[in-house]
Amino acid sequence: MKIHEFQAKELLAAAGASVPRGLVVSSAADALSAFDKLGGPVVLKAQVHAGGRGKGRFKDSGADFGGVKFIKNREDVGKVADVMFKFPLVTKQTGADGQKVSKILVQEAADIAREIYIGMVLDRTIGMPILMACAEGGVEIEEVAAKTPEKILKVPVSPETGLLAFQARRLAFELGFTGEQVGQAEKIMMALSKVFLEKDCSLAEINPLVVSPKGEVIVLDAKITFDDNALFRHPDVEKLLDESEENPAELRAARAGLSFISLNGNIGCLVNGAGLAMSTMDIIKYHGGEPANFLDVGGGANKDQVTEALRILLGDPNVKAVLINIFGGIMKCDTIANAVVAAFKEVQPKVPFVVRLEGTNVGEGRRILQESGLNLATATDLTDAAKKVVAAAK
Ligand code: ADP
Ligand code: MG
Repeated sequence: MKIHEFQAKELLAAAGASVPRGLVVSSAADALSAFDKLGGPVVLKAQVHAGGRGKGRFKDSGADFGGVKFIKNREDVGKVADVMFKFPLVTKQTGADGQKVSKILVQEAADIAREIYIGMVLDRTIGMPILMACAEGGVEIEEVAAKTPEKILKVPVSPETGLLAFQARRLAFELGFTGEQVGQAEKIMMALSKVFLEKDCSLAEINPLVVSPKGEVIVLDAKITFDDNALFRHPDVEKLLDESEENPAELRAARAGLSFISLNGNIGCLVNGAGLAMSTMDIIKYHGGEPANFLDVGGGANKDQVTEALRILLGDPNVKAVLINIFGGIMKCDTIANAVVAAFKEVQPKVPFVVRLEGTNVGEGRRILQESGLNLATATDLTDAAKKVVAAAK
């Protein structure tokens, strides 16, 4: 689960990091009063769940700025906020349609002497979280990582102890902080580690962490992603979800307990088990088709979940055929066949369906499908299923 920059900063501030003053607004009029309250140059920052906002552009707006705009004069606030609210913001991470902006963070402008990157992620190779840092922070960190990976410093962080003070201090020196900045940087790194570990994050990054000409160290941009599997432990975090930023089909699926990801193809897939779902997508592609989604209904899906899954699949106008691929292990084939029949009667799909069932009670499952009189093609194995559904989609 992702959250907005302003929310990430609130979590970091609560853990002891210093962040600039800012106000979140939903209208141009409120942006103007935020400017007055903060009194002075501000930066308007479009709040979307995507990075690269600074270098992005507002689609079809003709405006020459992106989602991060420095504003000195009061009369420019309204004009800029209007563009931000009216046109979708396109960045490297949003896709070509861009993302609608419904909130703007009006933040006091900072004087910047240096921009630094710090971030925490899980390092799967060593099986531990790591704190990464780079003295060349800012908007091009991905490029630094690709071209000069040796410039990225890495410190393993024990989940039991969190980042230790000596680790933070050493990193601060390596990043070139001097004098009083060292303590400030250390405090921010400790806050980052605390939030990452306590809130079960999969990513927590500050980019840029800036040093002002006066030597203050400030969190200018922050991004946090939480591990969905641990959200049940954090009702406070779940409340931070901004549903308007989520793909509606994915949100609906999550509510039904389905694991669903939208893709660009035209073959809907309803599968049980993540591994089988992956191989189903692979074999569809192998036979020349393109999956419209990844969908794992899980090991114990019931009729309601299968019905909801079919509704979600068929709600995608690009879906021209559907493959139901079920291996009856924990869930028996007759149970899933009954669920499919019931779901069909309710949803009444107009596109061709191919069903491949295998596993416990498969004979009974196939009989139920055959006797249902529904317009379903059955397949004997995975290859047969993939060929049939690819042909049907064409
Ligand atoms: P993104 O990473 O999505 O592009 P950032 O918040 O990192 O968004 O902003 C991009 C750049 O804009 C920063 O690297 C920094 O140079 C500048 N910037 C962001 N916020 C401020 C601010 N409050 N004051 C001055 N400059 C800022
Ligand atoms: Mg940034």
